[in-house]
Amino acid sequence: MKRLKGIAASPGIAIGPAFVHRPAGLVVHRPRADDPTAEWARYQNAAWAALQQLAELRQKAVAEVGEAEAAIFDVHQMIIRDPDLEAGLQAELKAGASAEAAVEAVLAREVKTFEAMGDSVFRLRAADFADVQQRLLRLLLGVRDDALTALDRPVIVVAHDLMPSDTAQMNKAMVRGFCTAAGGPMSHTAILARNLGLPAVVGAGEAVLEIANEAPLIVDGTEGLVISGADEGERADYERRANALAETRVAAEATAHEPAITRDGRQIEVVANIGLPGEEAGALKAGAEGIGLLRTEFLFVERQTAPTEEEQFRAYRPILEAMGQRPVIARTLDIGGDKPAAFLSMPHEDNPFLGWRAIRIGLAQPELLKTQLRALLRAGRGCNLKIMFPMVATVEEMQAARALVEEAWAELRERGELFAQAVEIGMMVEIPSAALIADLLTPHVDFFSIGSNDLTQYTLAADRGNPAVASLFDSLHPAVLRLVDSVIRAAHAANVWVGMCGEMAGDLTAIPILLGLGLDEFSMGAAAIPPAKALIRRLSLAETRPLAQEALAQPGASAVRDLVKRRMAKKDDQAGRIV
Ligand code: PEP
Ligand code: MG
Repeated sequence: MKRLKGIAASPGIAIGPAFVHRPAGLVVHRPRADDPTAEWARYQNAAWAALQQLAELRQKAVAEVGEAEAAIFDVHQMIIRDPDLEAGLQAELKAGASAEAAVEAVLAREVKTFEAMGDSVFRLRAADFADVQQRLLRLLLGVRDDALTALDRPVIVVAHDLMPSDTAQMNKAMVRGFCTAAGGPMSHTAILARNLGLPAVVGAGEAVLEIANEAPLIVDGTEGLVISGADEGERADYERRANALAETRVAAEATAHEPAITRDGRQIEVVANIGLPGEEAGALKAGAEGIGLLRTEFLFVERQTAPTEEEQFRAYRPILEAMGQRPVIARTLDIGGDKPAAFLSMPHEDNPFLGWRAIRIGLAQPELLKTQLRALLRAGRGCNLKIMFPMVATVEEMQAARALVEEAWAELRERGELFAQAVEIGMMVEIPSAALIADLLTPHVDFFSIGSNDLTQYTLAADRGNPAVASLFDSLHPAVLRLVDSVIRAAHAANVWVGMCGEMAGDLTAIPILLGLGLDEFSMGAAAIPPAKALIRRLSLAETRPLAQEALAQPGASAVRDLVKRRMAKKDDQAGRIV
């Protein structure tokens, strides 16, 4: 029996035979060529075939997982069509490289550039460039790789890491869970697994690749454990737990559209995070009572010019219309730093996470931010729009941001436009300075939304995308909990409500603590909503308040997790099972 510890990336238990995915080796045996014109023609054939493949993959992804997943293939097509990429390739060919060597070199440079930026949702771009590189190389070298498409029996996919196109082509109906050697909690595989509601352990180290194909495997995505060759007893135990979990999941889904009311009668708002138009449909289906975080970056990245007010209005309006009177919290642009935006011609930064990003850009370029605000205010007419600003570190920033909203309102009024008037204005609390001066910020906001991803990163000085520090990056660390606690206390003292839209809000182990600390709104990925609501219904404020206080006094994140698990297991079967 072999036990491997990795990062718990998506909760649940998967049991089944291993399918070890080893992409065919792509070795460039002919690095030099002496006819650049012929090599360019070879490249163009491969690029054409790649664009065809991507169009097919896009269609398949739309049908299977919706627009959000499919958008990755638009990005891949854009990478191939990028004139800068073509210019880079032609320069290599002129210098005597073969088409495959040119593709390998030019795209490797892009991968390196993006990897150097770390690995947040946008830094997943490195994976996209690597993916495009592999696709073009397979075509140029005549290597087929369709093993994941051809899956015809239920398996657990084991791999070094999975690329966006691996997972799109994958026959997901046959996947029970994932286990990867690389990746962190924000890697593509982790995000996908959470979206699909499948258990996953990532960053488990190269030893996972020693697992034999077909070996019986257990993936415990809650504990971050992978067990191969378990004995009868352990296997039977996991099977019992997996069956119980499946039952709990079915029951949670059946009640997902009912409100989440604690045992002692407090109704908690459970809403969704979305990052692309179209995702609101999945959120509603999962039982979301609104949108707690509409990330608007999709409009700003990958472009040479800033999106116009009209273009933004057309993107936001359908989302607001679909949500009707349910709240929609739109976050203004959170680009820059690690989320590059070509039209901004950003200077190189040594520390992009501590650099020119989000509200800092919006305030430095007020027209850019005001254009977005006008588009949002117009799109919110007749709906329940709220606007929040990301990465606010100081009172002055929040005051300046509010003043821009006033200006946007005045400009729309002058133009005679129809727009939303009663809009709550809030900010994300994701920088420790903001958390520490929450009491000074309350006069300037209607609400706070805690961004636990960045708040954890900045509090523990642990890059949220770097697998090497993934074990340190845990939002349940008492340092983060204490900041969350003081933000909620300061806000409530001033009658300001507090939500949370970082990953922590959907973490079933964190929910009892957050409830006990008094959090008003929980915003999470759609798949996390049914179990979160089911758990809240089994809890009371009377029991979670003292639990939260105990959590604040624990020496570390794992002690906090143990405490919650022990308490939930003791409390009742159902809550123990959910957590
Ligand atoms: C956060 O930081 O917790 C958050 C929700 O914002 P993002 O993940 O987009 O940085
Ligand atoms: Mg953030």
